[in-house]
Amino acid sequence: MSNRQAALTVLLMAWAPCTFAQAPIEVSIIEVGKIWDQAPHNAFTDLLRWQDQFYCALREGRGHVSADGRIRVISSQDGDCWQSATLVELNGYDLRDAHLSVTPDRQLMLIGGTAPRKKDNQSAPTGTFASFSHDGTGWTKPKIIVEPGRWLWCVTWYQGKAYGVTYGGRDTPPYIQLLRSTDGVNFRTHVSKLFGKGWPTEVTLRFAGNGTCYALVRRDRHGDEPNSAVLGVSSGDYRQWNWHDLGPEFNSFGGPNFIQLPSGHWIGAGRMHQGGAHTAVTLLDMKNHKMTKLLKLPSGGDTSYPGLLWYNNTLYVSYYSSHEGKTSIYLAKLNVTAKCPRCSSAMKTVPVLVGLPTTEMTAKLKRGKALLAGCVGDPHNPEYACICPSCRKFKTVRMTYWRDLPAEFGIIGLRQERSQK
Ligand SMILES: [Zn+2]
Repeated sequence: MSNRQAALTVLLMAWAPCTFAQAPIEVSIIEVGKIWDQAPHNAFTDLLRWQDQFYCALREGRGHVSADGRIRVISSQDGDCWQSATLVELNGYDLRDAHLSVTPDRQLMLIGGTAPRKKDNQSAPTGTFASFSHDGTGWTKPKIIVEPGRWLWCVTWYQGKAYGVTYGGRDTPPYIQLLRSTDGVNFRTHVSKLFGKGWPTEVTLRFAGNGTCYALVRRDRHGDEPNSAVLGVSSGDYRQWNWHDLGPEFNSFGGPNFIQLPSGHWIGAGRMHQGGAHTAVTLLDMKNHKMTKLLKLPSGGDTSYPGLLWYNNTLYVSYYSSHEGKTSIYLAKLNVTAKCPRCSSAMKTVPVLVGLPTTEMTAKLKRGKALLAGCVGDPHNPEYACICPSCRKFKTVRMTYWRDLPAEFGIIGLRQERSQK
């Protein structure tokens, strides 16, 4: 955060806390489009927005399990028109299951599975590679950061550290492990036996505004333990975890992913099987440790591994599917309506702008198109405020309580301070 940004502090007009229950939420499809199908098999996506562009990473190969897997990164200004940004390959390895994140020093980080597979459909131990980019087009040579045998499936950055969970092959004990790193390259085991009931595999971690870490786990059948998805919850130093089975409806919940929306709701996505395999969007209730299905995306057959992004009042979901024949990459734009828990009005979200108010920013604020924050926000991590226009309350995911919206919508009083930094 720059001095200019740190020098601003939000002076809130009112602090009166009020208790709000979790609001109902409605999700509907605005549109779905195929965005990539260049390889015979295109799959396993992730999605984020970085430096004013959308980035989607995916695997290209001859088939679902083939020796020639490579990771393609595609980019787009508007989410409609996509072009290739790079193709990452590693000689002798099948690269798979791409995941994108942004490092504390603002680089784009790509990780994925690395399997030394000799022939298509042959099983092989899988490890993890990482590659980094300053501009989205030039990428560092992929470096193996976890040797084949344990697969660090996804990483999530929180307060300067990368966290991720590994799982092993069927010849190892079923425990998943929590790893941690400060540079995204050198990982150390943080919890060696994180969870081992059934066969836990792919895990996505997310952190709430209060620091609570949630783990959404795909769990496959093992012994007497059935297929299901599992939710892990931890806080403090993330060494002690509580686990909650989300039920058999979420069996083989391949490609588990979830994000928190500005309204506070947690939206999940992954593969479900009732009525045939498909990619589903879900609602996670973190208080009661429950997950419910919200909708099925146009999908079928070999499908799932969604990327999730909240941008410009829209939930973007990248995923792959073979319901139209060729296994291809799709992007769904979803409209999410969260109802105010007090008055049931549809809430709206606006971006939180960070920094000294420029002319352009002030115009947006006056039109009610944005809120202005100070050092509470990370200028590189877009943050959104959720507003009830009837109750005139607002909240961001980092805030514990709903607060009164200033009379002059948008402009929260500012107090400028000299920065010592
Ligand atoms: Zn309201």
